[in-house]
Amino acid sequence: MKRKQAVIFEIGWNACINCGACVAVCPQESGFISPFDTIAVHTPCDIACMVCEDICPVSTITHVAA
Ligand code: SF4
Repeated sequence: MKRKQAVIFEIGWNACINCGACVAVCPQESGFISPFDTIAVHTPCDIACMVCEDICPVSTITHVAA
């Protein structure tokens, strides 16, 4: 499920309920997390499988091209 184009995730902090789902499903190596215990933001993700965006219960994860 690897894409060619790396992405950078952004999270709407006001909507995030800090459930931890995005980190739980992320296939990146451990450490790809933000200071708020979500997936890393403003950091290029070269896997770009998008499972975090799919699983987020409040749909507050978005991305831009890296
Ligand atoms: S899955 Fe969504 S609501 Fe849950 S911690 Fe991650 S960004 Fe926040």
